[in-house]
Amino acid sequence: MDPAAESFDVAVVGAGMAGLSAARALVDAGQSVVVFDKGRGIGGRMATRRLGAAVFDHGAQYFSVRSRGFGDLVAEASDNGQAAIWSHGFPMLDASGAMELPGEGHPRWCGRPGMTAIPKRMAAGLDVRTAARVVAVRRESARVVLRFDEGPSIEASAAVLTPPVPQTLDLLDAGGVVIEPAERTRLDAIDYEPCFALMAVLAQPSKLPPPGGLSLEAGPIAWIADNQQKGISPLPAITIHSSPGFSREHFDDEPAGVAAQLLAAAERWIEGGAAGVVEQSLQRWKFARPVLMFDAPLAVVSREPPIVLAGDAFVGQRVEAAVTSGAAAARWLLRG
Ligand SMILES: Cc1cc2nc3c(=O)[nH]c(=O)nc-3n(C[C@H](O)[C@H](O)[C@H](O)COP(=O)(O)OP(=O)(O)OC[C@H]3O[C@@H](n4cnc5c(N)ncnc54)[C@H](O)[C@@H]3O)c2cc1C
Repeated sequence: MDPAAESFDVAVVGAGMAGLSAARALVDAGQSVVVFDKGRGIGGRMATRRLGAAVFDHGAQYFSVRSRGFGDLVAEASDNGQAAIWSHGFPMLDASGAMELPGEGHPRWCGRPGMTAIPKRMAAGLDVRTAARVVAVRRESARVVLRFDEGPSIEASAAVLTPPVPQTLDLLDAGGVVIEPAERTRLDAIDYEPCFALMAVLAQPSKLPPPGGLSLEAGPIAWIADNQQKGISPLPAITIHSSPGFSREHFDDEPAGVAAQLLAAAERWIEGGAAGVVEQSLQRWKFARPVLMFDAPLAVVSREPPIVLAGDAFVGQRVEAAVTSGAAAARWLLRG
């Protein structure tokens, strides 16, 4: 072990909702914690992006709140103008093309001025290091050592790993951490569906009905959101999410062809059709949502030193599930 290596109680990989939730709880309990993320920003799949003056949420679109802990966080964010209720439900276009209007359901929250406002709030005061890609996690003399694509390694007494599970397993394999075979089989079985997010700036306001979010039961598109009606974009700007079937079938296709197909399928909601699009950008989410999940809120892959896996794959494919899983990982570590 490098005697000059930076050293912490806990190293967290991933500054998405799970990693930040774990880090927050550990810091509140007095631990020294560092969080690494390979991205330029934080939030992971809670993602907001700008094209000129237009603003898009292109990962998670909204979230629900069921637990008290997350409820308190969202209530504080709301008091500070960083979260708001978008709607109590969204219309759905069924397979026959008929519009089903929503009943008055539970609140669907969103971040203000975008989804990243929530992870940014959670990260306040934490030691979060971005553009830091971990390439291997290994055990050395009862310590965890994290190696990066560039720069010196760091060490910690414990680690919480929150990237999508296949990526986490790659890090452990690269570090030679052998997982007990039955647990490894259960982790290998976790699968994710991909998703394209097409962001399009429009010349005119979209033709989506209020409140500006629409689920589609059939066809290449699963969801369209109007970021202007949502209240986050000053310009007309829509986010189109492809359906799981379309995403799998076209995942390796040329982006321009994928974008053209999605725009053609969304034509009805765009004034002037494809000609009404001023600017566009396509994002590919390889691990958008877990489809086969783990049956516990965390997975312990090493006890000495403790290495814990957390994230939405451990509770359910939702923002709040990631928060719950991260908090459970922190509790497990704190129990000693
Ligand atoms: C298109 C889309 C739409 C969605 N819509 C909704 C929705 O409307 N409502 C809802 O509740 N949920 C939705 N979700 C799911 C929700 O976004 C996730 O459940 C949640 O954000 C997952 O959080 P996480 O912390 O588990 O993972 P992530 O947010 O993926 O965080 C993992 C982090 O690990 C980092 N990382 C990965 N590898 C490394 C490495 N080697 N080194 C350093 N860092 C690394 C990544 O950069 C990332 O920031 C959606 C997701 C997508 C993609």
